[in-house]
Amino acid sequence: MTARRNETHDPDCIFCRMVTGETPVEAVYESTDTLFFRDISPKAKVHVLGIPKRHIVSLAHMTDDDQLLIGKLIHDATKVARDLGLVAGGYRIISNVGDDAGQVVKHVHFHVLGGERLGPMRC
Ligand code: 5GP
Ligand code: ZN
Repeated sequence: MTARRNETHDPDCIFCRMVTGETPVEAVYESTDTLFFRDISPKAKVHVLGIPKRHIVSLAHMTDDDQLLIGKLIHDATKVARDLGLVAGGYRIISNVGDDAGQVVKHVHFHVLGGERLGPMRC
């Protein structure tokens, strides 16, 4: 991880606008520093996105200070998967980083996918 610091909010970022409430969002789970909501274009029967409330472009932009936040995101994603009944059947967590991975929204997010047999990559 690098030593760069991040802005906390980008007014041009769709996910930041969800955090502030400028863009309405129906949260499936929210904590003081994370937000989980359903993907607008689901790639599986269950498809939730989990984000830090703070604007960070991608996992590659996270700093040493973000180690706890990364852990919190995974922890909360696991809780969401449990609450949505995904644990018995299994589920997948994906984070696309940068252009080669197809990252479209430049605010760190974890895709939580499940509810059916997933097969190869989806996001
Ligand atoms: P990426 O390709 O960046 O890893 O994934 C971005 C995801 O955000 C896509 O799965 C896309 O469907 C989702 N998405 C983009 N805009 C919105 C939105 O306005 N609302 C919701 N709920 N999801 C969005
Ligand atoms: Zn953002």
